[in-house]
Amino acid sequence: MGGLFAAHLLRATGWDTTVFERSGDDLAGRGASIGTSPDLFRLMERIGIRLDPSAGVPVRARICLERDGGIDHEKPVASVNSAWDRIYRPLRDAFPPAHYRAGMRLARCEESADGVTAIFSDGTRETGDLLIGADGIHSTVRAQFLPEAEPLYAGYVAWRGVIEESEMSADEHALLFGRMCFCLPENELVLGLGMPGRDDDTRAGHRRYYWIWFRPADAARALPELCTDATGRCHGTSIPPALVRPDVVRDLRDRAAATLAPAIAAIVARTAQPFPHGIFDLEVPRMVWGRVVLLGDSAFVARPHVGAGITKAALDAECLADALAGGDISAALARYDRERRAFGAALIARARYLGAFLNVRTPETVLTEYGAAGKVG
Ligand SMILES: Cc1cc2nc3c(=O)[nH]c(=O)nc-3n(C[C@H](O)[C@H](O)[C@H](O)COP(=O)(O)OP(=O)(O)OC[C@H]3O[C@@H](n4cnc5c(N)ncnc54)[C@H](O)[C@@H]3O)c2cc1C
Repeated sequence: MGGLFAAHLLRATGWDTTVFERSGDDLAGRGASIGTSPDLFRLMERIGIRLDPSAGVPVRARICLERDGGIDHEKPVASVNSAWDRIYRPLRDAFPPAHYRAGMRLARCEESADGVTAIFSDGTRETGDLLIGADGIHSTVRAQFLPEAEPLYAGYVAWRGVIEESEMSADEHALLFGRMCFCLPENELVLGLGMPGRDDDTRAGHRRYYWIWFRPADAARALPELCTDATGRCHGTSIPPALVRPDVVRDLRDRAAATLAPAIAAIVARTAQPFPHGIFDLEVPRMVWGRVVLLGDSAFVARPHVGAGITKAALDAECLADALAGGDISAALARYDRERRAFGAALIARARYLGAFLNVRTPETVLTEYGAAGKVG
């Protein structure tokens, strides 16, 4: 996402940009639900993509459910919930295909008097005036320039899952759809909400219900155990959904039945393939080296509680394009480094604060504080 935003916004100010993407597949369908923001729609529009901000799945209120299913708290907070494809698809479709090179894995880069050269794992070399490392949390660019900056495990995982709207009972639907629902078992947090269906389908009955459950998992034992498949292979700090062991899913469902409101526990039980992945923080002390720039998650990763990673990547891209429009590249990059580091650090701090709710929080503070809206930048 960050790479596409940067490539579009720079192209609009006269730069000749090319995106090199490691994956050879179409990335649509990746990810699930995403929270949107006015900045995201504004930047899409600046690129020439008009999206109706009210399209998606509207949320009218936030509720906190008791273990017995009763509503503990309710707050009228309106938002619209969307899906990864809704932002990614038009960005990708609007970008000139000849300048999108899929299946290209960056291995390293080299700076010279002529600019900066990207060297790919197949040996291809491409030289330009600027290289933007929008290559995510495990950035190859960051590893080359800042090997000591490693993502820091937050001590908990996010389990995620999705079911079809049509799989919900009438009672579950009436209680949950149209609201952002929280359950707060001790030291844990579950969030559930409606999202568009496949191909961004927002017709009633064709949407989906998404949940995310933050649960502690110590780094030494519980996390590797969760991420180990039935053959005994550990996949690191996450695991492909299809490889999650049945006994791990069974434990999760048992835990849901024992600690969550019945409507949410039933949805967890009905989710075919829930999967966990570790939650990390990442901060960097600088985002620019000569003509090499970090952008988006390659520089700062905020825990998902702020629901703002895509907006942050898009705002990084906007700042870079605006600064470079001034013509003096060194001054532009210095401004970018200064402004976006300050923003990234503030967002990470806010996400950590919201993550602290896993230990100390009340329903009132969670319903009021959750999300990033208006709190950063
Ligand atoms: C559970 C969860 C929920 C989230 N919810 C939200 C939300 O509601 N709203 C929101 O805004 N954000 C959300 N986020 C965050 C959001 O997904 C990220 O912040 C965002 O995707 C970052 O975009 P990016 O372009 O910087 O990095 P990425 O999306 O990680 O993209 C990096 C790209 O670089 C490619 N790449 C990597 N290495 C190489 C290489 N060596 N050569 C070539 N290509 C390479 C990768 O294939 C990938 O396509 C959530 C994240 C999680 C984990």
